[in-house]
Amino acid sequence: MNTEKPANKMRSRMNTALYGARRSAIREFSRLARETPGCIALTLGEPDRETEATVSEQIQTALSAKETHYIENNGTLALRTAIADFESGKNGMDYSPDEVIVTAGATEALFTALFGILNPGDEVIVPVPAFVLYEEIIRLCRGVFVPLETAPDGFQISFEKLQSLVTPRTKAIILNSPNNPTGVVYNRESLDAVHRIASEQPLFVICDDVYRQLIYTDSYHSFAEYRDLRDRILVAQSFSKPYAMTGWRMGYLLADRQIKERLELVHQYLVVSTPSLFQRSGVRALQTDPDEFVSVCRRRRDYVLHCLAEMGLSVTKPEGTFYVFPDISAFGISSADFCRRMISEVGLAATPGFCFGSDDHIRLSVCASDENLKEGMKRLRIFLERLREEKKGESCCD
Ligand code: PMP
Repeated sequence: MNTEKPANKMRSRMNTALYGARRSAIREFSRLARETPGCIALTLGEPDRETEATVSEQIQTALSAKETHYIENNGTLALRTAIADFESGKNGMDYSPDEVIVTAGATEALFTALFGILNPGDEVIVPVPAFVLYEEIIRLCRGVFVPLETAPDGFQISFEKLQSLVTPRTKAIILNSPNNPTGVVYNRESLDAVHRIASEQPLFVICDDVYRQLIYTDSYHSFAEYRDLRDRILVAQSFSKPYAMTGWRMGYLLADRQIKERLELVHQYLVVSTPSLFQRSGVRALQTDPDEFVSVCRRRRDYVLHCLAEMGLSVTKPEGTFYVFPDISAFGISSADFCRRMISEVGLAATPGFCFGSDDHIRLSVCASDENLKEGMKRLRIFLERLREEKKGESCCD
């Protein structure tokens, strides 16, 4: 008789990599916020606005033109040309339309890139705190996630620390600038540090530049500008954030032709192509200007930074994204406990830093109305006062 427990039996039949994978705790905390009446959620990782009507209307045009059939795997030539033109005009990149793969969001671009380059046991260095996706995709691809701590360096990359992590198995480094969750833009020293390492060893550098259009500084540079390493740079991009298109699942991957010709096989067998009906919308989105949204985010970021300074919370100034990542280590509780208590005691939700690999922080999203941000800051102040009182109480009894 087989005495193996049903769960174990199932497990032995599945891909074992799936049992190391975690579900996103970000969603769990957003759900907690939703289920708490009156809770203000500063957890949102997407713009609090709708896709522009001119972009959505393109679906109707596509339907009228009966564009409901299979299209080119990598996206229509019109969309790939629009992407190549956009990237050269706005970002100074030199990718041709046949170096573009239109993907199901940046998520698929990252999966395609990592699956396409990793062999089992290959190591990928990821500066942390980082978006949770990288670690999980690397695991699913049977690679090894190697975190590079950046908090002690103002969330920038230290050459010495990076160098100490490089081994003969290092296959890639993932750079996300501006960064989710810190909002930090990598400075020239950070980029040069990666360039020095990548020049010594044939590493891939994956640039997750999905927040590139949401920046508040004139000194932004992407690693993708180092054209001497063109054949080892992979750029993941998304329509989600700048154009408020998170639900459309549209993004793209840029890669040197020879690499792209391999990577497109992953994409082809995963999704065949992105939906035919969305191709025209993609072209239209690239013609829209997210500047107004960027100035709204900037104003809100400044407001939140001002409030946090008044509350005595230390924070590295975000130069991009719509996140602020204050340090809560002074309170001596875990980021999960901090966020759980904040929801239940004052009705304010944030995302705990542990979701990004840093238990000393929480992530606040400024994608909320002015009114909710103001009320949210009021509630945060009350919560911090309570925690400080508790701490005082504890220390006088020690
Ligand atoms: N990279 C980063 C850093 C992100 O924050 C996100 C979305 N939160 C993604 C990639 C994935 O974006 P998409 O919606 O295009 O899949």
